[in-house]
Amino acid sequence: MVDCAKCGRKFFQHSPVNALWCDKDHVFLCRKCTKPDAPKQPRVCSFCSGRVSAALSGGFALAIFLIALGLALGTLLYFDAEYRSSLQSTPEVPVSSIHPGEVVRLYGVISSSQDPVLSAYWQSSGKGGGSWVWSGHDFYLNQGSGTVLVDVSNMMSHIYGNPPHSSSNQASYQSGDTIAVVGTVDTSGGSLILHAQAASASDGGFGDPAALPVAIGFYIMATAGVVVAIYSYVKAVGRVRDHEKRVRQPGMYDYRLPDGRPSSSP
Ligand SMILES: [Zn+2]
Ligand SMILES: [Zn+2]
Repeated sequence: MVDCAKCGRKFFQHSPVNALWCDKDHVFLCRKCTKPDAPKQPRVCSFCSGRVSAALSGGFALAIFLIALGLALGTLLYFDAEYRSSLQSTPEVPVSSIHPGEVVRLYGVISSSQDPVLSAYWQSSGKGGGSWVWSGHDFYLNQGSGTVLVDVSNMMSHIYGNPPHSSSNQASYQSGDTIAVVGTVDTSGGSLILHAQAASASDGGFGDPAALPVAIGFYIMATAGVVVAIYSYVKAVGRVRDHEKRVRQPGMYDYRLPDGRPSSSP
């Protein structure tokens, strides 16, 4: 239990947030005992008149920030990287040899009577970032060896790579463009249909080689947060030890009992 070196007010009965630390005297002081001479002046130690700083330094706040952000973004990006690499590792097969129930990756030419088949607008998230928001309708995927109808209703949030036609804020896929799709083969009215879950402009464009290193980077950030928390904790424990040692010493803390407790208000 730490109290103010000057007046003996206990911090933890009130709030340790109010504790201030003097680096010269190595003691904690309360807000009352560090009142500046004039408003807007920095708080000063009532023993040495040196500046005092918040005892609960920004270390813990920084640690919580690093851990929370690092874990949240790291996990988000890690699962995205895993998902994209699973798409990329889905077996690529010719359209002519697909069967109902299979999950396959197909690469071919878009065929449709409605153009554009898929279209997007750029939704900016600020600071130069953003993403394409896609919409469109079903199309036939053509290979020399065969054709299959592609159901696009579930793939709109997983279209990767650079679209074949794009300006700064519009993009599209049209008849004649090549596209890679990953999905589940099914039958519909006697013919095959592919329920696509993702698409890419290029056959190798599903995976993102940068995604996993970035996710690991965020995990490293969370680890740094743990290090900051440990450092801050060790520092706080050291300060409490210093404080207790100092207030037992004779001198300006004479009003205290030998065990460091204040005998009465000085
Ligand atoms: Zn005080
Ligand atoms: Zn001081």
